[in-house]
Amino acid sequence: MTAKTAIVTGAARGIGLATARLLQSQGWRVAIVDIDAAELQTLDIPDCATFACDVSDPDQVARMVQDVMQWSGRIDALVNNAGVADFRPLAETDLATWRRIMSVNLDGVFLVSQALIPHLRQTRGAIVNIASISGLRASTLRVAYGTSKAAVIHLTRQQAVELGEWGIRANCVAPGPVDTKLALAVHTPAIRAAYHDALPLNRYGCETEIAEAIAFLCSDRASYVTGQVLAADGGFEAAGVGLP
Ligand code: NAD
Repeated sequence: MTAKTAIVTGAARGIGLATARLLQSQGWRVAIVDIDAAELQTLDIPDCATFACDVSDPDQVARMVQDVMQWSGRIDALVNNAGVADFRPLAETDLATWRRIMSVNLDGVFLVSQALIPHLRQTRGAIVNIASISGLRASTLRVAYGTSKAAVIHLTRQQAVELGEWGIRANCVAPGPVDTKLALAVHTPAIRAAYHDALPLNRYGCETEIAEAIAFLCSDRASYVTGQVLAADGGFEAAGVGLP
């Protein structure tokens, strides 16, 4: 029997790459999917293959799923991790920015999950969507990003309810701040200082710490867990402290 296969989107770097590496170390074959073809070419991980794809484009998603099936013959888990961020106030958020954030963070989760339903039915597989603490609590500057992530949390619950009859589980990880390229681009010094004050653990998380939560939800160890949001957030949600 072939090894279990996971698709991880947005996995050329950051949290997605850490997740692909962890899953591979746990015996999974991993399809590493990303829009950044150049970054994908730098990767060489045993039992993994790379697939260039913009998750917000239905045609590219359909082709990617076909290519992954040709490579692996089965798909047991999907990690919808690809995401983009843009922090600006509501009054300064133009429609193009709003749509760009929604198309990757929300449409991408919808499209890839929908395309994989027939394959996940075959394996009674798992979906793990990557939201954010910004989807759990409102704060300034995150109107598009936070709204997209709140929608991902609700979409996860929809998926759990609708796909449960086929044995497909759907859960969500809501990471706190992690020093990736995405965070470095939007976390100003003021935001960094505020996070440090607001986090009971007083530090940013590591990519591998988020990957551990994701790998657990992909695995059979979570076989009775569905429709949940696991906040891997250093205690941010529990503390309930405000952010700029
Ligand atoms: P990152 O920028 O390092 O990685 C994101 C990856 O997604 C990149 O490789 C990028 O090329 C890819 N990507 C972007 N648009 C894509 C598209 N249309 N199709 C396919 N791939 C695309 O960022 P990260 O911090 O590792 O983010 C991973 C996920 O974690 C995102 O969903 C992000 O919103 C979420 N998250 C991050 C943080 C944080 O502080 N870093 C906190 C909460 C949630």
